[in-house]
Amino acid sequence: MAAVTLPVEPGRLVVKIGSNLLVDPTTGTLRLDWLAGMAADVADERGAGRDVILVSSGAIALGRRVLGFPTNRPLVLEESQAAAAVGQIRLSRGWEAVLAEHGIVTAQVLLTLEDSSNRRRYLNSRATLNALLGRGVVPIVNENDTVATDEIRFGDNDRLSAQVASMAGADLLVMLSDFDGLFTGDPRRDHNARRVDFVREITPEIEAMAGEAGSVASKGGMRTKLMAAATAMRSGSAMAIMDGSVNRPLTALRNGAACTWFLSDADPATARKKWIAGMKIRGRLIIDSGAEMALGNGNSLLPAGVVAVSGEFGRGDAVSVRNRDGREVGRGLVSYSSADARLVLGLKSSEIKSRLGYPARAALVHRDDLVI
Ligand code: GLU
Repeated sequence: MAAVTLPVEPGRLVVKIGSNLLVDPTTGTLRLDWLAGMAADVADERGAGRDVILVSSGAIALGRRVLGFPTNRPLVLEESQAAAAVGQIRLSRGWEAVLAEHGIVTAQVLLTLEDSSNRRRYLNSRATLNALLGRGVVPIVNENDTVATDEIRFGDNDRLSAQVASMAGADLLVMLSDFDGLFTGDPRRDHNARRVDFVREITPEIEAMAGEAGSVASKGGMRTKLMAAATAMRSGSAMAIMDGSVNRPLTALRNGAACTWFLSDADPATARKKWIAGMKIRGRLIIDSGAEMALGNGNSLLPAGVVAVSGEFGRGDAVSVRNRDGREVGRGLVSYSSADARLVLGLKSSEIKSRLGYPARAALVHRDDLVI
């Protein structure tokens, strides 16, 4: 098959890989051939200058076998937490080994729901992912199953992968699934079921295709994939659902493999700015004319340019940035609490550490978190 033009040519992509692709059901160990093929695909993407994040399941499936837990019943919470702790280390080792063959450095990133819902932790997770990607590292992400209990879980890696795509500002999320797309009915039973090639909006008709909550709501079912698609599309990322069982799935995608494309009408940067612009404002930063000019030129807001701080806010809250005349210059997510912002206002970046007693981030509002 010749390469086709993808509807979205990503600069940064997230690939979600489920346990059944990674773990051999008879031996309960990693399918190393498949992993090696995936690693070659990742190396090709990296070689073309694209950032890649892998969201990989498999910790519990690998660990339960090692610990000798029965395979014919679901695990209780402590069992799955223990299995995840044992399996995660093997999973990371597997990815590290196959990607090192291509000279690629990997990083293990374990997240819980709070890392995307708590604003401060969200900013930290995002900054870490960006720091890794900026150094050419391929982060291997999974849910932190060892500490996650039901109330604080993403629950499945479909949703986790969409949050990661949103957090990292990825333009494409590839879901490697058992099915090669979303079908109008269940392709195993209904011979008239057709694949939907493109989805631009999650309408009730599209939701109906995913089936009833009771029947297909299981992990990895179409419903969670549609929820993931909605999150991805809202944050300006496209999503593709394709069959992941082939040997080199990303090569297959580039060669025109059957799949369903979920397309967003925004790009990640625009979607993020819209999200920030709509947030509740917790405080104000008054800036001098030098800083106003710097922001106009697309720079971050540094403490040196701030003359006054009003309101009470925490790190990651939205603030309004105003000039001395009170005119709003922009809005953004602030990297300091209001108390710390008051301590550092007017300071040069080199003076911040000694004033706060710890090295904080250089920008009070980073340009990526700023809407002008
Ligand atoms: N985080 C789980 C694991 O690594 C898998 C969850 C999922 O696949 O949705 O075993």
